[in-house]
Amino acid sequence: MGRLIIVSNRLPITVTGCGDAIEVAPSSGGLATGLGSVHEDCGSLWVGWSGLDAHASPEARRSLQTQLSSRRLVEVPLSSEEVSVYYEHIANGVLWPIFHDQLEKLPNLIEGWETYDAVNARYADIVAACARPGDTVWIHDFHLMRVPALLRERAPDLRIGFFLHIPFPNPEIFFALPRRQWLVEGMLGADLVGFHTRRYRGHFTAALRRLLGIEMQNDSITYNGRRVRLGIFPMGVDSASFAERAADRKVVAETARLQSDRGIRLLVGIDRLDYSKGLPKRLLAFERLLTMHPEWLERIRLVQVAVPSREGLAAYKSVRRLVEELVGRINGRFGTHRWTPIRYINRSVNDTILSALYRAADVMLVTPLRDGMNLVAKEFVATRTDGDGVLVLSEFAGAADELTRAVIVNPYDVDGLAEALHLALEMPVGERRERMQALRAHVMPNDVSKWSHGFLAQLGSANA
Ligand code: UDP
Repeated sequence: MGRLIIVSNRLPITVTGCGDAIEVAPSSGGLATGLGSVHEDCGSLWVGWSGLDAHASPEARRSLQTQLSSRRLVEVPLSSEEVSVYYEHIANGVLWPIFHDQLEKLPNLIEGWETYDAVNARYADIVAACARPGDTVWIHDFHLMRVPALLRERAPDLRIGFFLHIPFPNPEIFFALPRRQWLVEGMLGADLVGFHTRRYRGHFTAALRRLLGIEMQNDSITYNGRRVRLGIFPMGVDSASFAERAADRKVVAETARLQSDRGIRLLVGIDRLDYSKGLPKRLLAFERLLTMHPEWLERIRLVQVAVPSREGLAAYKSVRRLVEELVGRINGRFGTHRWTPIRYINRSVNDTILSALYRAADVMLVTPLRDGMNLVAKEFVATRTDGDGVLVLSEFAGAADELTRAVIVNPYDVDGLAEALHLALEMPVGERRERMQALRAHVMPNDVSKWSHGFLAQLGSANA
C-alpha cells in the first residue's frame, strides 16, 4: 500500500523563536485544520515551506529539522528573495487578483515567473526524492500550479492530484494572464484536478478548449496521451468540532457578554482584510440601511473582524485605508453618546471569541465579491446548534452553490444589500429556523473529512 504525500505552500505549523530555541506549534485555520486529520490518520508525509528563512543559523535549522521529522513534515527551504517574488509578488500579487476577477489590481509590470517556476521545481524535486513507487501525491493551490507537470517529468508513474482552493476565473479574465497556457499545462500534469464548484470547472474546461482545443468527456480530458479527470469537491469544515465548541462554557459566557446590550441586534462579519471580501461595499450597505431605515438607529450593531493580511502589498494597504475611513465616517455620522454602530476589530480573534461571535450573530454577513468557497459561512452554520440566526451570503462565494437557503445577495448592489439586511433583521423566527435547519442539514454531514476522503477516493481510482 503506497503512502500519501501532501504538498502545500506552507507546512501546517508556526515557527517561533530563534537559534536552537526554535519552537514548532501546529497552525490553525484553512488547510492546516482541513488536512490535519488526514495527515494524522494516514501517516502521510507533508511537504512545504516552514516559514523559516533559508539564511537562518545552522542551529536553528537543525532544531527545526528534528521537530519537523517527528511530525512527518518535510521542509522546502526558501530564501527571503524567493518568498518575496514567488509568494508575495506572483502568487498573492498576480494570481490572486486575476483568479478573483480583479484585473485592475494587477501590477503594471509582471516579472518573476522564473522564480515561480524555480520554486515549483524545488517542490517537485523534494517530493520526487521522498516518493516511492505506489505513493499518491496531493498538491494544493495556486502557489504550486506548475508542480503537477514538473513532478510528472521527474516521476512519471506517481499518482498525482491537484486541488485549486480559489476560483478558476472566466476565460475572458484568465486570458489576461501572461503565461496562461503554461500554468494550465502545469495543472494537467495531475491525474485528477479538483475544483470547489461546477462553475469553476466550467471556466477551466472553456480555457482548455480555447488554449488547447481539448473537450471534456465524462468528467475527463485526454492530454499528451494521458487521461486527466476533472472533479468537483466543495470543501467543508470540521462541523462536529464547531457544533461541540458552541456548548463550551467559555463560549457561552462570551456569547452572553456580546449580547449584553439588551435590545441591540448584532450583525457580524469575519474576514481577512482582503479586497476580494467586499468590505467597503458591505459598510456602505450598512450605512444605507441606517439612512433608509432609521428605525434601526440604536437598535443594531455591526461587529466586523478584519484579520490583517498581506500587508506588504499596496492593494491591501489601500483597502485597509478605505475600510477604516468608512468605519470612522459611519460611526461619526450615526453614533451617539450611548451607541456606536460599528465595532471594528483589526486583529485575529481566538477560537472562543470566534465561536461566540458566530453564536451571538442575529445576522452573519458573508458578502465577498468573489471567494473560492468561504469557510466562515459554513463555520457559522455548524455553530448554530440553537437552530437560529440568518446567513446573508454573496452569490459569488463558492458556498452559495450549496447553501441555497441562505439570503443570497449580489454584493455589488449596495442598495439591494441594504434591503437584504433589513429583511434579514425582520425575518420571522419561523422562517429563520426553517432556513437554518436546511443549511445545517447540508453543512453537518458534508464536512472537511468527507471532502478529503472524496478527493482521495477518486484519485485512488484515477487510472481505473
Ligand atoms: N479565522 C481565523 N482567525 C480569525 C478569524 C477567522 O483563523 O481571527 C479563520 C476562520 O475560522 C476560517 C478562515 O480563517 O476558517 C477563513 O477562511 P475563508 O475560507 O472564509 O477565507 P480565506 O481567508 O481562506 O480567504
